[in-house]
Formats: sequence, C-alpha cells, structure tokens
Amino acid sequence: GAAKDRGRTSQMYAPHVRTRGQERLKMEAALHKAIERGEMLLHYQPKIDTFTGHMSGSEALLRWNFRNRLVLPTEFIPLAEESGLIEPISEWVLAEAARQARLWRDEAGYDDSIAVNLPSRMFEREDLLGTVRGLIERQSLGLHNLQLEITETSVMKNLAQVYQLSNAGVGLSIDDFGTGYSSLAYMTRLPVSLIKIDRSFVRDLGLTAQSQAVVNTVIALGHALNLRVLAEGVETLEQMRILRRLGCYWMQGFLFAPPMSASDFLLWRSQVLLAETALWQAELRRE
Ligand code: C2E
Ligand code: MG
Ligand code: MG
Ligand code: MG
Repeated sequence: GAAKDRGRTSQMYAPHVRTRGQERLKMEAALHKAIERGEMLLHYQPKIDTFTGHMSGSEALLRWNFRNRLVLPTEFIPLAEESGLIEPISEWVLAEAARQARLWRDEAGYDDSIAVNLPSRMFEREDLLGTVRGLIERQSLGLHNLQLEITETSVMKNLAQVYQLSNAGVGLSIDDFGTGYSSLAYMTRLPVSLIKIDRSFVRDLGLTAQSQAVVNTVIALGHALNLRVLAEGVETLEQMRILRRLGCYWMQGFLFAPPMSASDFLLWRSQVLLAETALWQAELRRE
C-alpha cells in the first residue's frame, strides 16, 4: 500500500542522505585541524596589464590539501563560515600571503602586491587594520605588498571599516563586480582603487550582446569614477580583444595563467619575462 511505498522510498533515499551528512561532518572535523596539520596552501594567479604587456601583482587563492586532493574554496569556505572557522582560516591566509611576499622580495627580488580574498566577517572586526599593519611590520613589508579583495555586498555592509582601511593606505578591490548589491549613490565615493568584473560577464563576451553591454557599462562607470577596472576569467584571445577594444586592459584568467603554487608562479613569471612567447604576448605584439 501507500504507507509501505513511502517506507521503501525513505529507505531508498536515507543511506544517500546519511552519507552526505557524514561526509560533511568528517570534512568539518578535518577542517578544524587543517591549519595545525599544515594542509592549507595558497596558489597565486597573476594580474596582467595588457596595455604594457606586463604582469602586476597576483591574487592568492586558498587550497586545502585534504586526503591527497586539492579542495577548492567553493567547497569548504561555506563550511568554514558556518562552523566559525572562517576567522582563523582568514588570519592564516593573511599571514601566509605576507610571508610569501617577503620571501619573494628577499629571495627573488620580486616585490609586488598579493591580493587576499577576505570574507565579510573579517571586515566586521575592528582590529582588521591593526592585523594588516602588524603583518606588514613583522615581515618588514610595504603597504603595497598586501591588497584586500572584498565583495560588493560586503563593502556596503562594512562601509566604515572599508573607509578606515582605505584611508590608512590599504589597497582594496571589489571582487565579482556586478553580481552583488551595490548602491550607485555610494559608488561615487567608494574607497577602493580597483573593480573586478565578474567572470560570468566575461564568459559571454562575443556570444551575447547583453554581456558586452554590461561589461561596457561597468568599464565606463569605473573609469568615470577614476577606478581601475580588471576583467576576471579571461580565457580566449577573442575575449581579450573585445575587452581591450572597450578600454579594459587589466585582466586575469586561464589565457594568461591559472592559479599556481608559489614556486610554479615564479617559474611562470621568469618564462614570460624572458621568452615572451605566450599566445597573448604574440597578440599584443601584432598591434
Ligand atoms: P574569486 O576571488 O573571484 O577568484 C577567481 C576564481 O576564478 C578562482 O577560483 C580562480 O581559480 C578562477 N579562475 C581564474 N581564472 C579563470 C578562468 O579563466 N576561467 C575560469 N573558469 N575560472 C578562473 P577558486 O580559486 O576556486 O576560488 C573561488 C572563490 O573562492 C574565489 O573567487 C573567492 O571568492 C573564494 N576564495 C578563494 N580564496 C579565498 C580565501 O583565501 N579566503 C576566502 N574567504 N575566500 C577565498
Ligand atoms: Mg578574488
Ligand atoms: Mg573574483
Ligand atoms: Mg568571481
């Protein structure tokens, strides 16, 4: 009968649900120990200035070496946010980026910015500026060595903190621009220096007229407000061409390089600097 069928149905689904729940619990337990076990690491993706053809700084992207697999942040950051681990993890990310910036400067003469993605929770803390200053002093870095990436929604929620950081000279970028909530009223006096156009808009460039209209508008808005504009997720020469035609020269994406380990990053950098043979470099030379 119906009751029996219902019973069978729930039996059929229960093991699957239980497995997912157990998997999550295991992951959360492991996440608690990930830092002390040295399982967290940062990968670095270059930011390219396609006006000059040079790279300028990088973005740190978090990876978790869990059971011999590199777990991506989209898989564990939500879990970290829910379980209260996001603050210690973010502190680790900041400290590790500062450590790497110093190492690159001292051992490779590479003295540039590393941008760290920070969640809203960190901007709610009143001592964020103190934390950043402390790291910069401890590693004897300059303010230019550390930048922060923050989402639109998080900027709007933490305006006072964002102003404080910006006034102190900390470089701030708005990440995933166009996907969150930002007030045009505030845009005119946003204390950031760079906006990053979300890669969902970049992906459709050359495919839909709408995406080009949106990207064009964001570029015009950014430039009218004296902000630098960077396009995320550039994968093809066609996308690069369209963006440059629209006046956007700052880019990041697989066309140039994926996020890489610290040592691969240095290797990639020296190859690009010396050989100048990448597809995009040839394209820039053709003009
Ligand atoms: P995001 O800050 O917008 O980072 C860009 C994401 O796009 C990265 O994914 C990067 O690997 C990916 N990407 C870069 N170029 C391309 C491309 O050409 N094509 C495609 N399809 N993807 C590209 P990832 O590393 O998985 O990070 C995802 C998100 O996780 C980040 O988005 C950021 O919001 C968050 N995240 C990363 N690291 C951290 C961190 O240390 N702390 C926090 N709280 N969040 C982080
Ligand atoms: Mg980012
Ligand atoms: Mg982004
Ligand atoms: Mg994004």
